[in-house]
Amino acid sequence: MASEDAGQTRLDMITHLIADSMGTEVCSVYLFRDEDTLELCATEGLQAEAVHKTRMRLGEGLVGRVARTGSAVNTPNAPAEPNFRYMPETGEERYSSFLGIPIQRLGQVLGVLVVQSLDARVFSADEVYGLEVVAMVLAEMTELGAFVGEGAALTRPHQQSVMMRGTTAQEGAAEGHVWLHEPRVVVTNPVAEDPVKEVERLRAAVERLRGDVDRMLEMAGASDKDHRQVLETYRMFANSKGWIRRMEEDVSRGLSAEAAVEKEQSEARTRMLRVADAYLRERLSDLDDLSNRLLRLLTGQGQKTGAEMPGDPILVARNIGPGELLEYGRTLRGIVLEDGSVGSHAAVIARALAIPLIVHAKRATTEALNGDLILVDGDQGQVHLRPDDTVASAFRDKIAMQAQAQKRYASIREEPAVSRDGARVHLMMNAGLMADLPSLEGSGAEGVGLFRTELQFLVRNQMPKRSELSALYARVLEAAGGRKVVFRTLDIGSDKVLPYMKATDEPNPALGWRAIRVGLDKPGVLRMQLQALLRAAAGKPLTIMFPFVAQFEEYRAACAEVDKAIAREERLGHPLPETLDVGAMLETPSLAFAPKKFFDEVGFLSIGGNDLKQFFFAADRENERVRRRYDTLNVSFLGLIEQIVKRCEESDTPLSFCGEDAGRPVEALCLAAIGLRTLSMRPASIGPVKSLLLRSDLEQVADIIAEAREQGEQSVRPAVMKYLRDSE
Ligand code: PEP
Ligand code: MG
Repeated sequence: MASEDAGQTRLDMITHLIADSMGTEVCSVYLFRDEDTLELCATEGLQAEAVHKTRMRLGEGLVGRVARTGSAVNTPNAPAEPNFRYMPETGEERYSSFLGIPIQRLGQVLGVLVVQSLDARVFSADEVYGLEVVAMVLAEMTELGAFVGEGAALTRPHQQSVMMRGTTAQEGAAEGHVWLHEPRVVVTNPVAEDPVKEVERLRAAVERLRGDVDRMLEMAGASDKDHRQVLETYRMFANSKGWIRRMEEDVSRGLSAEAAVEKEQSEARTRMLRVADAYLRERLSDLDDLSNRLLRLLTGQGQKTGAEMPGDPILVARNIGPGELLEYGRTLRGIVLEDGSVGSHAAVIARALAIPLIVHAKRATTEALNGDLILVDGDQGQVHLRPDDTVASAFRDKIAMQAQAQKRYASIREEPAVSRDGARVHLMMNAGLMADLPSLEGSGAEGVGLFRTELQFLVRNQMPKRSELSALYARVLEAAGGRKVVFRTLDIGSDKVLPYMKATDEPNPALGWRAIRVGLDKPGVLRMQLQALLRAAAGKPLTIMFPFVAQFEEYRAACAEVDKAIAREERLGHPLPETLDVGAMLETPSLAFAPKKFFDEVGFLSIGGNDLKQFFFAADRENERVRRRYDTLNVSFLGLIEQIVKRCEESDTPLSFCGEDAGRPVEALCLAAIGLRTLSMRPASIGPVKSLLLRSDLEQVADIIAEAREQGEQSVRPAVMKYLRDSE
């Protein structure tokens, strides 16, 4: 293993040695030549001519099955197995038994190690285990570039270009260089000379790890329950007999302590990819973190590698918390996460900072090296790592085109959004962090149509104090410079769980105890927030909006809280806001059917299209499978919105729309055509939406919509798109 020979010679020697010591006629190593093709790279026993010629796709044949499933296949009668594929060039039809072991590292399969024999033998558990240990060493050596030779399968690792598909959590395109949030620990010594000494090293490191965890627990204090819980889990793992025994066994068979830790970590990662249960995944991820700590203790490689953050960093991480992301702030050009989710708090922050974000980019942290060129295509949900020149230049063209479009939008920034037929549409922006406010100037927004106050709560580890909140709201009003800001009271529950509030286990959180429901049942926080708002807006106009109102009574009860808060401020002799406008979000279909008296009484309404759509179609907005199944321009949904517009007109109730759809130009156009006159969206969408409104005739679009409906179309989109194309 330690020999200095070229990769091919090493592989040949290894297969020879393994066949010899296992007493099998055949030993072969298959490695990936691209993402889904395996190639026979070395063999003892099969036809030598087949080396680098025999290939199979992932999942094809027994070898492909081992690679796809990441688990061993052990059979005395290979040709009888359902997946068996006959490959004449190898001459393998003579061999009966087959044992295939994945060569994998940190949950990523790099290839397959196979032994075969003429007699129909079943390999014992010990033999399987022994070969697994060898496969582990092979994986480490592959990672270190020990098998570099000719052909695509033997290229140096981390050199090839890789395209990863993920899910877009924030649109936009970015080019930059990789910055790994957690620097990778490199194991340079997979095998150890002296197992006895090595076990001692491992034990000493585990002892230090336990000490570290105990100290962290002491420092954590009693208040931060969740943090303590994670540390308790760490402690449990650090003292787990099974975990330590398995690592010691690996070491006693010749692995280095580091390699043994990584073998365990790799298995945990493989399991992590398979379990659907979120709680279990979290625990396995805790174990992964703990393994990293142990590896750092063993290798002496710290968090700081001495690497310098590139000037155009694209953050690559398994996952990241909202606080950590805020620390990086706007220095980041883009973010690529292996886990994460569209609805996570980190995603909320990335969106607020307008940093392109891709989640579920498999293998990102194992493939990327610090400083690699990387392109994030947030529109397509793709990541190009170490792209070749053609991909990079096509991507740069795309960025240039977007920059040009931005320039065009800047030139209409000060213009009001008036359609060709003279309808004036007010375009506002959605915000939630102080960091959003500068966008008011840049985007040309007429105000903040939705200020999601929960973001301030989500990014903290503790409940903010009233004085802090009031200072913050005052700064928001200050930054808005007299433009309207619609403060939405706390919308927590569902996917937005506060780290410091006891999580309630609900069967269906989206339909559960959330938003105004929490605010009315446990009014402490709502009252505190209302006071903070009243104080921040002393002497100025104030607009407050309640989220998720499902029936009239909830709105009344919420207003009663506002009245109480005002009375209290008056009693205390505090100055009050100059004017006060109170309204509700219409996010459940029920509110569209509320009594007329509600429409007369409510100060204004804002349609929360994200929630309204999910409840109208009964399709979870967080669920990738159904999220895009129903079109916003579906005639039934537009029908509902039209009805809301009509009812608001009848009662003279100001109405706006503040879901994500307001920021999509074609959707925004249709909403305006059916009568909405205020749309609130991400700041970056204001330019594109205004640009389309300026060159459209809303009455014509309304006619097209009416006609498509009459024709019994499911969605008005095709007809509207055709109209737009024809009128270009
Ligand atoms: C909505 O539901 O459309 C909305 C704007 O609120 P949120 O996305 O914060 O739930
Ligand atoms: Mg909502």
